[in-house]
Amino acid sequence: MYDGAIQDLIDELGRLPGVGPKSAQRIAFHVLAADPADVTRLADALRTVKEKVRFCATCGNVAESDECRICADPRRSDDVICVVEEPKDVMAVERTREYRGRYHVLGGAIDPMNGVGPDDLRIRQLLTRLGDGKIEEVIIATDPNIEGEATATYLARMLSPLGITISRLASGLPVGGDLEYADEVTLGRAFEGRRTVS
Ligand code: ZN
Repeated sequence: MYDGAIQDLIDELGRLPGVGPKSAQRIAFHVLAADPADVTRLADALRTVKEKVRFCATCGNVAESDECRICADPRRSDDVICVVEEPKDVMAVERTREYRGRYHVLGGAIDPMNGVGPDDLRIRQLLTRLGDGKIEEVIIATDPNIEGEATATYLARMLSPLGITISRLASGLPVGGDLEYADEVTLGRAFEGRRTVS
C-alpha cells in the first residue's frame, strides 16, 4: 500500500475492467513519470467523454447528439435492424462493411446468474421501433456465448408473432467469445450466411 494520491489512483485504475492490481500499479507509476502535458490530455479525454458522449435515443449506440451517426445517416436502409449487445459490437459489424442497415443496442445480454433479465435490456424500445411496420428483417447478432444465445432465443420467441423475418448470424464465430473478437472476414461471412429462425 502506498500513501495518499498514488494509492487513490491505483485504486481507481484497479476498478477498470481488465486492469488487475499489478497493471493498476504499473499505469499509476507511468502517469507519475509521464510528461504533464500527456497526463492533462488523458484527464481531458476522460472528462470530455463523460460530458459529450451519450447514448443514441433511437438505437442505444454511443452518440454526441440525440441520434448517433448511423441513425442520422439517410443512406442506410430502414428495412433491416441488426440487434447487438453493446456499442462496441456496432463497431465490430461496421468493420466488416457487409451491413448497410440500422442497429439496436440492447445494453447487455440476459444473464440470470448476474441478475440481468429481459427488462434490464432495451427490448421494449426495440418493440416500439418494430411497431412502425417499416422493418422487414431483424438480424440477431448477440455474442456467441451462453448469455448471447439465451438472449437470441428469447428475442426470436418474442418477435416471431410480428411476422418479420428474424435471422441469426451463421455459426463459425468463435464460440464462448465476444462478437468484437471475431475478425472482419469471419464476421462478414457469418452475416452473409445468416439463417432465418422465424
Ligand atoms: Zn442510433
